[in-house]
Amino acid sequence: MKRHVAILGAGPVGLDAALACADAGWPFTVYEAADTVAAHVRAWGHARLFTPWDLNVSHRMRAHLPDAPTGDDCPTGAELATRLLGPCAALPALEGRVRLRTRVSAIARTGLLKHEEIGNGTRAATPFTLLLDTPDGEDTAEADLVLDCTGTYSHPNTLGPGGIPAPGERALADRITRTLPDTADPSRWAGTVLLAGAGKSAQTAARDLAALPGTRVEWAVRSPEPAWGAVADDTLPGRQHLVDTSQALTDGANERVFVHTGVHVQSLSPAGDRVRVTLAATGGPREIVCDHIVALTGYTGDPSLYRQLQVHECYATGAPMNLSAALLGSAGGDCLTQPSVGIETLRNPEPHFFILGAKSHGRLNTFLLRTGYEQIDQLTAAYADEPALPPAGS
Ligand SMILES: Cc1cc2nc3c(=O)[nH]c(=O)nc-3n(C[C@H](O)[C@H](O)[C@H](O)COP(=O)(O)OP(=O)(O)OC[C@H]3O[C@@H](n4cnc5c(N)ncnc54)[C@H](O)[C@@H]3O)c2cc1C
Repeated sequence: MKRHVAILGAGPVGLDAALACADAGWPFTVYEAADTVAAHVRAWGHARLFTPWDLNVSHRMRAHLPDAPTGDDCPTGAELATRLLGPCAALPALEGRVRLRTRVSAIARTGLLKHEEIGNGTRAATPFTLLLDTPDGEDTAEADLVLDCTGTYSHPNTLGPGGIPAPGERALADRITRTLPDTADPSRWAGTVLLAGAGKSAQTAARDLAALPGTRVEWAVRSPEPAWGAVADDTLPGRQHLVDTSQALTDGANERVFVHTGVHVQSLSPAGDRVRVTLAATGGPREIVCDHIVALTGYTGDPSLYRQLQVHECYATGAPMNLSAALLGSAGGDCLTQPSVGIETLRNPEPHFFILGAKSHGRLNTFLLRTGYEQIDQLTAAYADEPALPPAGS
């Protein structure tokens, strides 16, 4: 394949895709919105991954960086960025290929509207146009194969019931932290914190905030009896530790942490310098006046990028339909043991457009770096030895 590959996002999966293109001799460009690679990973850099180095380094990364860390130690996000992803981006193979401060804001088939040329070979033979926001203003670029690896971390879910904003939430948006809190400076979190969510990010936040003597945590959890994502005989000690800590906090292990189970955020309103949060609960509403709100209710990738492309999204998860069906079919288990789903599930009705990495799992929180690296293996195998891009579905 000698035509151009556009890789959107220089996170771990986008960088692995870049190495795959370099190895295959395919022309490619990586577009990264931030002023550094691995921007999302750096944003949660203070948190420790629960997967070890051996699972976080792809075989391509290891081939290009033989000194990349190995073993069972789990890095922090910052260590992953500085010891692995930054060095990857600095490899000669990627020189001049990564465009920082360049956000892809929309993608189209050049000259074709979304509803045109359905199911024939015309779309496959027509290049993509990318609309770029750059430091010098708007620009466009063309590509023949587009890999959307833009992740989810800059698109957090809201607090209200059923996933819509709670009344008052939008007006108080600047009072809400939607990323994992960095507790290195305890004074930043002094007072009362309303924490919402029950996934691994919320569990990490609860553990870290609970360690701060000047902080009281009111933890709002939707499930009446949260299982905290426990995995039987978990082989990842970091993940098991989070489950155990969350359960202990629920059982009252820390007098500064109160876990409200079976509640949802009903509304927010200003209370002087503070915020009044009303929780809906079976016994009647509970009011909490707090100094900080930490909303860790999950993240979902931005579908607006590919609004003009023929992407069949799952109505439930937002992931590409075939992938979503495969993931839901294997749901319920440990993300470590989920089966590899294969290139056909990654394809979209839009030929040569792929959603990869964390974004490919939509609302499902089963994504692991290892899964993303496998997706790149499947993609490169499917496109290997092609003199030009193959027709859709081949
Ligand atoms: C707190 C936390 C802990 C995690 N721990 C683990 C773990 O222990 N093990 C594990 O395997 N997985 C873990 N994950 C899940 C997953 O592996 C990570 O989210 C990982 O960063 C996903 O990689 P990615 O390359 O798909 O996307 P990201 O790392 O999210 O990278 C996306 C990149 O795209 C850029 N971007 C976004 N929009 C645009 C745009 N429009 N144009 C251009 N660039 C754009 C972003 O700036 C970013 O650099 C964790 C996730 C989180 C949030």
